[in-house]
Amino acid sequence: MLERIRRRLTLGYVGIFALILATIGAVVVVSFARQVADQQDELLEQKARGASDYVRGPLLHGYQEGKEPGEPRGRPDDGPVGPIQSSTESDIGVVALVLPDGEGGVILDSSPSSYSFGLPFEGPARRAAGEGETITETVDGPEGEMLRVASVPVTGREGSEAVVQAAQSRRVVWEAVGRLLLILVPVGLLGLLLSGVGGLYMSRRAMQPVRDSFQRQRTFIADASHELKTPLALVKINAEVVKRNPTDPENREIAEDQLYEIDRMDGLLSDLLVLARLDAGRLDVENKPFDLATVAVETAGRFLMRAAEEGVRLEVEAPDELPVRGDPEKTAQILAALLDNAMRYTPKGGSVTVSGRPLDGRTEASVKDTGPGIPPKHLSRIFDRFYRVETARTRAGGGTGLGLSIARDLARAQGGDLSAENADDGVAVFRLELLRQ
Ligand code: ADP
Repeated sequence: MLERIRRRLTLGYVGIFALILATIGAVVVVSFARQVADQQDELLEQKARGASDYVRGPLLHGYQEGKEPGEPRGRPDDGPVGPIQSSTESDIGVVALVLPDGEGGVILDSSPSSYSFGLPFEGPARRAAGEGETITETVDGPEGEMLRVASVPVTGREGSEAVVQAAQSRRVVWEAVGRLLLILVPVGLLGLLLSGVGGLYMSRRAMQPVRDSFQRQRTFIADASHELKTPLALVKINAEVVKRNPTDPENREIAEDQLYEIDRMDGLLSDLLVLARLDAGRLDVENKPFDLATVAVETAGRFLMRAAEEGVRLEVEAPDELPVRGDPEKTAQILAALLDNAMRYTPKGGSVTVSGRPLDGRTEASVKDTGPGIPPKHLSRIFDRFYRVETARTRAGGGTGLGLSIARDLARAQGGDLSAENADDGVAVFRLELLRQ
């Protein structure tokens, strides 16, 4: 399932990247095409204007000197070869014409390639002459292709009018766009490929915490089942013994064993329930001002009798007041878990100290005992669920390995934290930090 999510993540990532690339690509291509088209218009206008002096001078002059309007004619035979006729570019056609009243234009001069472009185009020429300014239009060429035609009006010295037209196929623009696409498409595809590889890598990294959390969940369920199965098996065996000898006087002892195991299971199930609620964010945790010193003194007070029974000295060292924010009940629960452990691991004649002190922006309550301490290699793991340093020792003492993990979760749920360390003299110190009021 995780693999499927990962593939989907990658696909989504590549899809979004493709969309972005396509959008950027489209914008680049359209603006490039526009720019090339504008350049083509400029070039055609330049071409036409380049011939305007020659048209204004020798051509119009010669035309006025002799020939009837409407009579077709070309370049004056006696003049030098002008810029129009000497134009050698085969992809641009140039023609100069006059437009007598009525239908038809009279060609004054034309470049060698002008016929293949179907020049002149009378409509655009008349419009340019009428408006007295350059007009650039797209027209259908003789072979059905689109042509761009610039028509520049030229006024001669005697007031007579001519128009110079320059034409080029629109294909020039599409060819330039085609060349750009030849670069953009492979680069885009390469980008997509790289984004796919990168996406797979990133999604693998992104999925790692999910995978870890899945793994933790699995281990947790396996551990919880194991923890419940063991006492249940004992209860079952005992019940079978009782069933075989219902009147045996030893049954009382067996019943006590059973009650012990049932209590253990009950405790474990309560712990599991707290953890499940914490995980689901459904455990009610208050956030109100309270005095941590009072809670510490009261909680320690509940352990005085046990300490006396076990021959352990229990001391509280705290100022009169330690104002904090959080949940007083949950805080008492955390301190009780720490004290319970401290009592369990401190041998007879040892001591357990609960202290409190204000810190920078926070307030700390610590529980220190003179027990064996925690082996350094286990220090980072003792807050893991079901983790025990010495399985046999703690199980015999009734521990499940959930106490510290619940205590830390409860501390964090209040905006605080719980940590453990071995003091310089090797004894275990647990520090609970809460937010100051
Ligand atoms: P348990 O219910 O087994 O005590 P906890 O989560 O409370 O589980 O503690 C986890 C482990 O941390 C214990 O198994 C024990 O090895 C170690 N531990 C906790 N408190 C102390 C302590 N005060 N001194 C030494 N070891 C401790």
